[in-house]
Amino acid sequence: MTRPKALAAVGVGSIGKDFVTVGITAAIAERSAAGRAANDRICASALRLKFEDDQRVPFVCECGDARCLGTVMLRLAVFARLREEGCLFVLLPGHENAGEEQVTEGGRELGYVVVERITNPAGGISD
Ligand SMILES: [Zn+2]
Repeated sequence: MTRPKALAAVGVGSIGKDFVTVGITAAIAERSAAGRAANDRICASALRLKFEDDQRVPFVCECGDARCLGTVMLRLAVFARLREEGCLFVLLPGHENAGEEQVTEGGRELGYVVVERITNPAGGISD
């Protein structure tokens, strides 16, 4: 079993529990939170290693599938913008869940999609 180096480098497995679970199932939210926490660490590592904004960095797919080990090549600047916009998730194309997620940008030709979770009955995301 080999794991992608980026995953090993950021120590996936020790996951923060501070993700707000609003309107999506707890299991998916927890797995997505794991992906987001890992990606935040990847981003921090890339910045520490002096990656440029337009360099592509291997992030992990935030689809919420526990078996998914997909990596998504994304420019640092794009990743930073998505985090600023809040509740957006970066996925491999085809990993989106049509019932619960709406693709807001990206596509197969770019190698990634960005989704917004559309089930949000609590309406509890504030900014
Ligand atoms: Zn995935």
